[in-house]
This record gives sequence, structure tokens and C-alpha cells, in this order.
Amino acid sequence: MKKHDFNPESLMMTYGYKPELSEGAIKCPIFQTSTFVFKTAEEGKAFFELAYGLREKSPKEEPGLIYSRINNPNLEILENRLCLWDKADDCAVFESGMSAISTVLLEFLKPGDLLVYSNPLYGGTDHFIHHFLNKIGVHTIGIMPGQGIDGVIKMIKDSGKADRLAMIYLETPANPTNNIVDIDKFSQVAKQFSKGDKQALVAVDNTYMGPLWQHPLQCGADLVLYSATKYIGGHSDLIAGAVLGNVELMVRVKTLRTFLGNMVSPHTAWLLLRSLETLKVRMDQQTQNAQIVADYLKNHSKVKNVYYLGLLEEGTEMYQVYQKQCFAPGAMVSFDIIGGEKEAFTFLNHLKLMKLAVSLGGTESLAEHPKTMTHAGVDEEQRQQMKITDQLVRLSIGIEHSKDLIWDLKQALGKVESYSTKELKVI
Ligand SMILES: *Cc1c(COP(=O)(O)O)cnc(C)c1O
Repeated sequence: MKKHDFNPESLMMTYGYKPELSEGAIKCPIFQTSTFVFKTAEEGKAFFELAYGLREKSPKEEPGLIYSRINNPNLEILENRLCLWDKADDCAVFESGMSAISTVLLEFLKPGDLLVYSNPLYGGTDHFIHHFLNKIGVHTIGIMPGQGIDGVIKMIKDSGKADRLAMIYLETPANPTNNIVDIDKFSQVAKQFSKGDKQALVAVDNTYMGPLWQHPLQCGADLVLYSATKYIGGHSDLIAGAVLGNVELMVRVKTLRTFLGNMVSPHTAWLLLRSLETLKVRMDQQTQNAQIVADYLKNHSKVKNVYYLGLLEEGTEMYQVYQKQCFAPGAMVSFDIIGGEKEAFTFLNHLKLMKLAVSLGGTESLAEHPKTMTHAGVDEEQRQQMKITDQLVRLSIGIEHSKDLIWDLKQALGKVESYSTKELKVI
């Protein structure tokens, strides 16, 4: 019979788990254990030889379980399943998105190196770059939204550090404005500045698109990073992260993880295995709802601009990049409310179904005010350049009935109207 290639969503319930090793249990149990018993001293010796890279792995040999900071069945099965979505060789899961990101930056950058990154970045990443990497002597260049590739190449050359370019770090689409950068073009820039064994890597934080809607490794990136707290976890009940890439790079990431000890716990890994079973249906529903929400907001008299990939105009450069590298417009919708902070807050304070909270990608819809919340730490001038104003509201759309979401938006926007009218009367 011809070999059938199953789609990732069909494998999320079973892939990588052998019931016969767990009393026939249909579901993978939680391996809540710190250490693993060796059958013999010889076996223990062989496991350590592999773990420390003292000899090559023989073809049929599997790395043995030693100690849960190094490996654990829940982590390994989770990593194997995550590899399927991004078609990656290997994956490492972390106790948070930030630990995944900081471990990658620490492993591949050293004092004197140059890091080029896209703006705006996730606040925690931005802080780590400016307050930690700069302190240890890593040079950085931030690219602004819409900046052409030639301008970026010029900035790298003009920096005098072109020969030390070690990484291009991208976040696309960017939070909260959904600005996109062309991953393929930046991977060509990285190649242009790579020489022999001095490779400039491209790392992409793909949290905003989850493992379904964009596959950076297929666009030429070397590493893809996730806050698994968001779509992958999907239920707003855990914090975790993941990194994926080729074997060579992932050996380095996993080795540093072993020594920083920032791997995910078996219990969180188990929750993530459960989450992965519904990843596709959740994300499908979320993006479907988000398009309905964006279409509704676009035509609302209290709303000025809606920033959503599903509303990009055909023929624009952004639309072309979107067509090339995204499979769906995602479930993050931002918009400018007419007025300012007062109008934005009135809207947020009157939502009844959507919750007023930061984070994203969960089953429930969330709303927040980037300028005073997620992006409060960003420099004001940069914030203006990136259109993060008093008027901007960010929504993460969940799996509720779309009619209920529209009802909620309608009534909360309605409050903005009456609020402004009342103000006028007082005057
Ligand atoms: C949330 C988030 C992170 C950080 O992840 P944690 O799991 O909170 O540590 C990084 N990047 C993006 C784009 C995020 O949304």
C-alpha cells in the first residue's frame, strides 16, 4: 500500500506516544518524575555518552531518559508533535516564551556581535535586547515598519559591524499593528552577510500567527520561536514557549536549556499536549470570527482605521507579502476609535463578553489598550511612528459565537456615543 502522509491535525492525538509503554493508557500520562531508573550500569553509561556527545549515536539507538531537566517523555512527545506543524527537524519547549527567546539570543550572540531586529517587538524581547544584550556589548539596529530592504542593507554596512552580523530577529505580523515584513527577503540579507562558518541567522517570533497560519522555516528562516502561552496553549491557563529549527542549531539551543534549566514542567507539557489536539479547530474558528469582527468594525461610525490582515488592499506591497507567506489573516484585530483615551477606555469598560486583559490567542476574546498597557514601556516617539496612539484598541478574538461578539462590540461602542453626547451637553 502507498504510504499515506497524515496531516498534522490527524496526528495530534497519537503521534510519538506508545501506549504499550504506559500500561496501554490511551492518553499519555504525566511523567511527574525527576529521574529515571537505568536497567543496568552499562545502560546508564551509554545514555550519558550520548547526552554529553562523547560518541556518535548508532542508527537504531534512541537517546535514553536520564533526568527531567535533560529529557522527559511529556516534553519529547510535545516537541515531536510541534515539529509536524512547522516541518522542523527538532523542537525545544521552555517554561515561557521569554525563556525561549532569551535562550536563543544568549546562545547565538556574543559581545561585539551585531543584532538587527524589526520594530515593534514584544515588550519583553525589546527590554531584554536594550537592557541586557546592550549591557554585555551586543550592538543592535532596529528596523522601522515599512523601511525598505536597501535601507536596511545600508544601515548594516554603515554600522561598521557588518562582518559581525550574527542574527536578524523578526516579529511578523507585528504586535499590535499587524505590520508584516518579508521573511524571505531578510533571509537573503542574512545570506549576503554570511561567510563560511560565520553564518548570520534569521529568527522569527511566530507567536502572532501560531503554528498554523505562517511557517517561517519554509520562508528561509533558521529558527522559529513561540510563546506557547498564546495559540498553542490556547486556554489562558499556562505559560510556556518553544523554539524549532534544524538539528545543528537545536542541539545548541537544547544544550543551553539544559544548563539554564528553563525547560517546561511535565505537567505543563501534558496540558500543551491536550491543547494541541484542538489547535486546528480553535484557530480556524478564531480567524473566521476575527474576519467577521474586522468587517463589522470597518463599517462602524465610531471607528476610523482597522488593522487586520484580512482587510489588506489587493495590489499593495503588504498584500503581496501576506499572500506569499501567510495562510490566514490571524485573529488579532486592532482599530482606532474616534476620539482618544477617554473613548477607548469607555469602550473597554463597557464590554460584557470580551474580557479586558492582555495576552492573546486564547479561546476567550480579549481587549486591551496598547499605549497604556502592553506598550506602556515603549519610547513615545517610537510609539507614534508605529501608530500606537490613545485611540488604538487591540482585540484577540476567541471561539465564541460571532453574533455574540458583534453584539458586545455594538453595545460597548454605543456607550462611547452616549458618553460623548453627555459630555457635549455638560459643555
Ligand atoms: C506573549 C509573547 C511573548 C512572551 O511570551 P511569554 O510566554 O509571556 O513569556 C513573546 N512574543 C510575543 C509576540 C508574545 O505575544
